[in-house]
Amino acid sequence: MKEIFADNLYEENGKLFTASKYPKPVYGEDVIKRNNVYYRLFSPLRSKLSSSIKSGLRPEIKKSFHVVYLGASTGTTVSHVSDIVSDGLVFAIEFSPMPFVKLMQLSSVRSNVLPMLLDASKPQTFGIFIDKTDLIYQDIAQPNQIDIFIRNMKFFDAKRGILMFKTYSMRAGSSINDEIKKLKDEFTVQQVKDISRFHKGHYAITVTS
Ligand code: SAM
Repeated sequence: MKEIFADNLYEENGKLFTASKYPKPVYGEDVIKRNNVYYRLFSPLRSKLSSSIKSGLRPEIKKSFHVVYLGASTGTTVSHVSDIVSDGLVFAIEFSPMPFVKLMQLSSVRSNVLPMLLDASKPQTFGIFIDKTDLIYQDIAQPNQIDIFIRNMKFFDAKRGILMFKTYSMRAGSSINDEIKKLKDEFTVQQVKDISRFHKGHYAITVTS
């Protein structure tokens, strides 16, 4: 097991793992125990963050980070971000009640996951609960996904952002380049990776402000 560019992120035989305090799998993933540390398989087929890293994305994530995660769903990727930010927090925003039930279960086991059943497009409704933001992570398939991302980056005055951009959700007549231009007008776009090999119609984008 070799630690790679982020805290608690490991690679072995071409597979990614996150080192975890928790022995139990979250969604049926393999867990390996070595020297009293648990390593959870972080599959590119299950998580866009994993597939982005496999595709060369190198986002800065440290174990102390407070992450605002927009579009948390049942918490598959949230659980790995929770491993990575082992001394930090994940504010997990999800507006759909069905996946939120599982997210609540995850937060009952993991003390650094704080779920909120709220609309990501309205940061003023959850900002009051968030003390500091080192990173915005967004994965919501919405026509106005770029506008929501920009709004949150600005609202939280975040220095870093990771956007999982779904081209199928783009407004008619728009192109990926038009959407990236909107980001470039506001931030420094660091990396753009096509992850459609793993997740059809998706790009992973990192920005700094
Ligand atoms: N990020 C998750 C993962 O990797 O485990 C998968 C996210 S899923 C593709 C997108 C989620 O975003 C859905 O659960 C959906 O309900 C949620 N979503 C979409 N628009 C939203 C909004 N405006 N506010 C909050 N959640 C939203």
